[in-house]
Amino acid sequence: MTTDKPERELVVEAGPEGGLVVGPIDRLLNLARKHSLWYMLFGTACCAIELMQTGGPRTDADRFGMVFRSTPRQADVMLLAGTITYKMASRVRLLYEQMAEYRYVIAMGSCASTGGLFQGSYAVVKGGDLIVPVDVYLPGCPPRPEALVEGLMLVQQKMEREPWLKKAHGKLPQPVDPWPEGAELHR
Ligand code: SF4
Repeated sequence: MTTDKPERELVVEAGPEGGLVVGPIDRLLNLARKHSLWYMLFGTACCAIELMQTGGPRTDADRFGMVFRSTPRQADVMLLAGTITYKMASRVRLLYEQMAEYRYVIAMGSCASTGGLFQGSYAVVKGGDLIVPVDVYLPGCPPRPEALVEGLMLVQQKMEREPWLKKAHGKLPQPVDPWPEGAELHR
């Protein structure tokens, strides 16, 4: 029996020896990627406290397949959690480069999005998007753990729509790099 679903959906077919899932490989791969979203446990200021809370029992991000990793090499998502100073900018960039493709970035809170209340400071970067390409911006000072879970779910939605095989074969344009190697960091 085939369910009446649009062409891009996965369908379940009943066979003599059990069920079969039939559909585009992109959809299947994206389903697996989406439900194993690992975020990096890393923070630069007070928003990181909310980040730590996100893995706790109240918000329980694990139920969505989101778990933290303490190494960039096993993380899919970088969370810019906190104020980013110019001194830290190169460290943030290094961690981003150590993450495997395909990676995603969430700017958590007003500091990581725009510099926040420290925007006038000579020492603070005016937004994480000057260092790494950002996929999702979360407003708030700080955003609550629930907001961070929503941000992670937005990344899941983005993953779900990606033509994964085309992307893996480099057939899709790469995001614009805000801080290419050798360039000065924009102030
Ligand atoms: S947005 Fe608010 S809570 Fe987050 S790092 Fe900035 S000052 Fe701290």
